[in-house]
Amino acid sequence: LQRGPLYRARLLALAEDEHLLLLTLHHIVSDGWSFGVLVGELSALYAGETLPPLPVQYADYAVWQREWLAGERLERQMAFWRGQLAEVPALQLPADRPRPAVQSHRGGEVWLELPGELVLALKDLCRSHGVTLFMALLAGFDVLLSRASGQQDFAVGTAVANRGRRELEGLIGFFVNTLALRARLDGTSSGGDLLDQVRETTLGAYAHQDLPFGKLVEELRPVRDTSQSPLVQVMLVLQNTPLPVPRLGDLVAVPLAADAGSAIFDLTLATREVDGRVACRFEYAADLFERTTILRFAGHFRRLLGAMTADSGMRTADLPMLDDGERQQLLAEWNATAAPRKPIETVHALFEAQAARTPGALALLHGERRLTYGDLDARADALARRLRARGVGPETRVGLCCDRSVEMVIALLGILKSGGAYVPLDPEYPAERLSFLLADAAISLVVTTDRMAARLDLTRDGVNVLTVGADDPTGPAAPIAPRLGGEALAYVIYTSGSTGAPKGVAVRHANSVAFLSWCLRTFPPALFAGTLASTSVTFDVSVFEIFGTLAQGGTIVLAENLLDEAALTAGDRPVTLVAAVPSVLEKLLGSRRLPDTVEMVALAGEAVPRILVTALHERHPATAVLNLYGPTEATTYTTLAALEPSAVWPPIGRPIANAATYVLDGEMKPTAVGVPSELYIGGAGVARGYLGRPALTAERFLPDPWGSPGSRMYRSGDRVRWLSDGELLYLGRLDQQVKLRGFRIEPGEVEAVLKESPEVREAVVLVREDAPGDRRLVAYLVFASSEADVSDLRRRCRERLPAYMVPSAFVVLPRLPLLASGKLDRAALPAPEAARPDLAERFVAPENELEQTVAAAWQEVLGVERVGIRDNFFDLGGHSLLLVSLHEKLEARLSRKLSIVDLFQHPTVESFALFLAAGAKAPPVAALAERAAQRDEALRARKPFRPRSTR
Ligand code: AMP
Ligand code: MG
Repeated sequence: LQRGPLYRARLLALAEDEHLLLLTLHHIVSDGWSFGVLVGELSALYAGETLPPLPVQYADYAVWQREWLAGERLERQMAFWRGQLAEVPALQLPADRPRPAVQSHRGGEVWLELPGELVLALKDLCRSHGVTLFMALLAGFDVLLSRASGQQDFAVGTAVANRGRRELEGLIGFFVNTLALRARLDGTSSGGDLLDQVRETTLGAYAHQDLPFGKLVEELRPVRDTSQSPLVQVMLVLQNTPLPVPRLGDLVAVPLAADAGSAIFDLTLATREVDGRVACRFEYAADLFERTTILRFAGHFRRLLGAMTADSGMRTADLPMLDDGERQQLLAEWNATAAPRKPIETVHALFEAQAARTPGALALLHGERRLTYGDLDARADALARRLRARGVGPETRVGLCCDRSVEMVIALLGILKSGGAYVPLDPEYPAERLSFLLADAAISLVVTTDRMAARLDLTRDGVNVLTVGADDPTGPAAPIAPRLGGEALAYVIYTSGSTGAPKGVAVRHANSVAFLSWCLRTFPPALFAGTLASTSVTFDVSVFEIFGTLAQGGTIVLAENLLDEAALTAGDRPVTLVAAVPSVLEKLLGSRRLPDTVEMVALAGEAVPRILVTALHERHPATAVLNLYGPTEATTYTTLAALEPSAVWPPIGRPIANAATYVLDGEMKPTAVGVPSELYIGGAGVARGYLGRPALTAERFLPDPWGSPGSRMYRSGDRVRWLSDGELLYLGRLDQQVKLRGFRIEPGEVEAVLKESPEVREAVVLVREDAPGDRRLVAYLVFASSEADVSDLRRRCRERLPAYMVPSAFVVLPRLPLLASGKLDRAALPAPEAARPDLAERFVAPENELEQTVAAAWQEVLGVERVGIRDNFFDLGGHSLLLVSLHEKLEARLSRKLSIVDLFQHPTVESFALFLAAGAKAPPVAALAERAAQRDEALRARKPFRPRSTR
């Protein structure tokens, strides 16, 4: 403002008129101080005084600032701030809503008053640590922000008046400057240490306050985006000048607090000391936060300050933040999942009870084959008797190595009925891995089918083989097994192990019965009328599909996998329930629909993307979509959420019956709503532990301090946070573990196999997504000798690891890229090239037209330059999802219906072309079309199932 005669005349005119005055100053030309000047001048004019002339105008100041802040002086300031703010991460407070691409600056506010006693205690603290009230408030605010975000390094902004010279005091203009105050909290330092740190940071910043913030941003060039303010996202200000009140003769002027409804930053805490108390105003971005969240922050801020004043020697990570009500809610209310359990103690007894009720009902369907409950029970009994005769009893681990067939289900039940525990072995696993599993689980007997027995060579492992065939006599109904208690071992499922070998999770009957009891209570039996069982029995989702269905009296529709279209649509039992891995289903939906008969989709195994939820609801409005989360160690599923189309972040939901979920920080203390931390799982699902690995078991299965005496909780390694309604949100892993199309992989296990080779000096395995939706496992290698050969390593992996753990690409580097800290710079690892030179030696060009067509489709789907007819689809980086794309392409190019399962079974161009030429039998297209045409309108109008509670 050029304050000449015109300004004065205007102000005077305003003052003389008897009007309500509304004075507004835009921040671009003024600041808080300016407002005091304006009000003072108004009061003076009203009283008839004249204003003294101004020694300088704002424009003079601007010119001076330009000249003064140049050259070496500027460089000194810049150097200081560069050092202060190098690589400062943006503060990511856990928001209630996703950050919009462009900030709307809509704001809200919440008020808090720090009571007199607290302010006195704070001032005592300030005196003993030689800090100002502002610094003490900043220390408390830093702790709050760190605890809320889980971050230990960030910057908080503050504003300084920046009127260091007398001549500037009477000016109206924008002088105020923003200073970024970096906080580093490592959790081990005390409140006192933090105060010392804050003092140093703040004084340093004051000493270099002349550099305008805008110039600093220009210089540091933080990544600029429209969704976030640069360098600082959160502000703290202490206003220590009294609120300017105009003195207008006998008129009374009262300052009114105006909520502008806007927010410049994600969060601004404006404080002011009034009559010995401190008024705190939290202004927040309404794009990001709910009011209740900020109210919670305010409460935590007050409690943290109180705790810090009470004991400044306490570590900041230990300062209590939650009140009793919050603790009660987190630990008790949201875990009040107790529900009556079935008096039945074993998994097979649940099935037997159902078989006794409905012996004639259809239990199992596989292609043309079908078994009633009565038949299935009798056949499983017969197998159990044979197993008993071989000495199987409680705690005996029996291998189960079957192709997907009715025999597989008979074998599952037979082993349990004999009192033993089943250990699923995928017949596709390489021999070395099967040998490892047999030895690790001390298995001496494997149940298999006739077809598999011919293919497998298990005798060299010294194990006996028992085949279960279609024509086995059911035998006399002699009693079978000893009575088993719930503590008995039911199954052992192996998962990838980070130390190089897979580990077996030992699950008791009681764990599974608790889970199945929840199934029985939560879902109406009709949902299981046609359960697509598509999950390998080496994963525990199969327990839901198979035993969940059998406990409900439903029918299992056995499928090769989720892409098995014949099972999905051609079975004469309509499929009502599908359990699916999100990425696989997403791919499937890219080209086809689920049958309209599907009433529920149970998603599990990896994070559910929102786009999938939207797609499912749009295309299958009558189908319930559930998100089920759970590690094998806590028995199949731990939490459930019904996914509504409106959810911006699909949650994993709440604990199921008799389960407990705790979100705990590094100190094993519950974290507040919104605070990201590790999930611990307690309750009836917590498994016995890792088979034969007491040390690892002790590391991951800990005493549950909130459970019943003696109970344990499983440390999941998953990063989650509570939403304010008591649902959990999944945020990712805290370690390197990855999920690839639902398969759980410890990269360390793959790295260990690679490093066994003496030629490999270093190996890093990770998941990359270079093309959208195409996540694949990539190995980076540094060789010790030039002799080394990638194809040897690939073979080695294939001999040792399940197919899904074999990297799709191997990249050889002269050395691994490192960060300044010496850690691996993951971002600098190059994308693998599409060309596969290591496969060149066995290249056989396509010969006939059919082979050429198939090979061309492969090239496009895989993005590789050339494809030989002997190359294996999966070696070239193919996986089940790419197979779906290939399937689509080939159907179009060859103008015929094909089955994905056949593609699986013929993974080379040569074999698939031969199979086609031999007159592959295509599914009956006409029958499919007819069934589609008959879609029942009533089905479309069906009310979707919505679980009301998770108990
Ligand atoms: P698994 O033992 O194979 O069931 O793998 C368990 C792990 O898979 C969990 O620890 C999670 O990291 C991940 N996971 C399983 N289900 C979900 C889900 N619904 N949402 C997100 N992650 C999941
Ligand atoms: Mg699971």
